[in-house]
Amino acid sequence: MKSLRTIALKEAQTREIPEVKAPSSKISEFYGSNVFDKKKMKEYLSKDVFEKLISSINQGELINHDDANQIAAAMKSWAMSKGATHYTHWFQPLTGTTAEKHDSFFEPSGDGAIEKFAGSALVQQEPDASSFPNGGIRNTFEARGYTAWDPSSPAFIMENPAGKTLCIPTVFVAYTGEALDYKAPLLKALSAIDKAAVEVCQYFDKAVSKVNASLGIEQEYFLVDLALFNARPDLVLTGRALFGHMSAKGQQLEDHYFGSIPERVFAYMVDFENEAIKLGIPLKTRHNEVAPSQFECAPIYEEINLAIDHNQLLMDVMEKVARRHNFKVLLHEKPYAGINGSGKHNNWSLITDTGKNLLAPGKTPKNNLMFLTFFVNTIKAVHEHADLLRASIASVSNDHRLGANEAPPAIISIFLGQQLDEILDEIEHSRLSKKLKEDNSLWLGIPKIPQILLDNTDRNRTSPFAFTGNKFELRAVGSTANSSAPMTVLNAIVADQLTKFKVDVDKLIKKGDKKDVALMTVLKRYIKESKAIRFEGNGYSDEWAQEAEKRGLSNIKTTPKALDAYVSEKTTELFAKTNVFSKRELHARHEILLENFYKKLQIEARVFGDVTNSQIIPAVIAYQNTLIENAKGLKELGLSKETLATPLAIIDKISNHLSIVKTSVDTMLEDRKEVNKIEDTREKAIGYDEKVKSHFDTIRYHVDKLEQIVDDSVWPLPKFRELLFLK
Ligand code: ADP
Ligand code: MG
Repeated sequence: MKSLRTIALKEAQTREIPEVKAPSSKISEFYGSNVFDKKKMKEYLSKDVFEKLISSINQGELINHDDANQIAAAMKSWAMSKGATHYTHWFQPLTGTTAEKHDSFFEPSGDGAIEKFAGSALVQQEPDASSFPNGGIRNTFEARGYTAWDPSSPAFIMENPAGKTLCIPTVFVAYTGEALDYKAPLLKALSAIDKAAVEVCQYFDKAVSKVNASLGIEQEYFLVDLALFNARPDLVLTGRALFGHMSAKGQQLEDHYFGSIPERVFAYMVDFENEAIKLGIPLKTRHNEVAPSQFECAPIYEEINLAIDHNQLLMDVMEKVARRHNFKVLLHEKPYAGINGSGKHNNWSLITDTGKNLLAPGKTPKNNLMFLTFFVNTIKAVHEHADLLRASIASVSNDHRLGANEAPPAIISIFLGQQLDEILDEIEHSRLSKKLKEDNSLWLGIPKIPQILLDNTDRNRTSPFAFTGNKFELRAVGSTANSSAPMTVLNAIVADQLTKFKVDVDKLIKKGDKKDVALMTVLKRYIKESKAIRFEGNGYSDEWAQEAEKRGLSNIKTTPKALDAYVSEKTTELFAKTNVFSKRELHARHEILLENFYKKLQIEARVFGDVTNSQIIPAVIAYQNTLIENAKGLKELGLSKETLATPLAIIDKISNHLSIVKTSVDTMLEDRKEVNKIEDTREKAIGYDEKVKSHFDTIRYHVDKLEQIVDDSVWPLPKFRELLFLK
């Protein structure tokens, strides 16, 4: 019988590239065609309801029952005109994926049937909350939860070959009010930053009445042929290759990055981009990434809530479209040991309703002071809550990246680029002289920020949080993550910091300082206080780990311990003040994240056991038997000891590796049984990390050695060179 690997290899080599047809040769003509956007709202709604909906989107005003009915009817008409038969509330539970529960518009009525969609069904639904992670909220409260419409993210139509569905973005909360998803806390954090930033803006510009956080998400991913993927149970069940000796050629020639995109991949990219464009996702960039078979796409930045909905949707679309091309898209942070992993860079800034980017250095001194205010407060916030930011990006899969000498380290630090770093130093050491204060010629005391800055910002790929000209880029986010987790934290900590800043400045003004003097005095103090978080050097180096320790910065390498920051007193207080999470919600989330961590390790451990016992060991023994036959034969022929030495040495080598593999798998199983007895979730997660995961490297090392010895034609799993170099 032919092995699955052999069949898969043959299939992968004879792929036809499917034809990809765009709805039009001009992207602008189908951009957003599947979105119930403002233009369509205007067309389908009465003027009065349209205006109310817009003000609800902009100011968060509630929509009354009658208006909801009209909006639902309008959505239904539009969706049906596009061929949709069903609708669903679309939400982001803490499982990490998106969730849908479809209902038909169809309803029997009298003798016939009609298509119906009531305002009440638009506004609220009740999926069974008990089937989603709730971190103990279920035990204390009723299991019931509901989804509620988020008008600030437009409804859209999801197309499947078998049918179309109207999707309504919603939040998901327990009946008792606790958030059970990613979106609800994000919206609260965005409201906190809006309020705090608008207040601080008043020092500079009274016209500002709203501040939106904006986000551009770069998404890295790997592609692998579907047949080869299916021949690897580890990839199928865990998203990463648990075994596999590194291919002789990896990324050492650096010939993939920005190289020409393979034709088969190009067709796939264009195909999923077309689908994304129809959904209003403004994809702009596509290119190869560093590792073989690794790629990246990035949209133009948008308001944060929308950017995150779009990223979640994009990941979904990428997976669906991949099937048409016989690809599997791997979003895992580290599918292949030995080559680069994938991240999701989060480019973040704050933009006012007057169109000003608060993180863009200005041309005039006054604008520069405004820039410095938001810039320095962000630095201060990250310094203050570095551990929480670290917690927000922690996951079992991101543990493979952070601190593994290729992605940003687990130490949170900020890179500013030489010019800005020097400017902050200059301010720190400047003296706000008495004369300056009296003259009100303080503007002269503010260092000029050269205009070339924007094009000239240094690129430091080793920093987890870097300033890149007019935005901060959080690079430590994992490729599978829902960006809401880190973005909820970032916006909440900056909101809290801006609120404190206002208090500090107002105090000085009250004491008689001129406004600008007060602003500068506080900024100067913040620069000094937050200095430890700034680092311009190589984040991958060992020296940095030592230096960071001296500076008192944390370096928490594993998730279960990193997550402690979610339930610290400092965090609880922060989220209570910003009204983002209650203490109960934080504890529930903490529990869910820990559970997720150890369950994923549990699955990996099982796959390690299954694949070694049922695939690797039998293949190795079969090969070993042929060697034994060979040795026997040579002996029968009466050949010399020296001649016999070669097969015997190979047999011996194989036996050694085999016995280590077998004992390690058995010991891992015993250790797992012990760890499973632990009741406390945090202890259990640590147990999995330290007692179960610790066997993985040993098992893998010896299996990978065997892969190099055993006859290629009997090895059961597609090898790295076959997975990584797409035809
Ligand atoms: P790179 O970081 O690879 O050089 P770019 O700087 O062009 O790439 O942008 C990366 C992402 O940052 C894109 O999604 C882009 O739209 C986004 N971006 C650019 N300006 C801002 C901003 N002011 N706020 C948020 N995101 C931004
Ligand atoms: Mg970038």
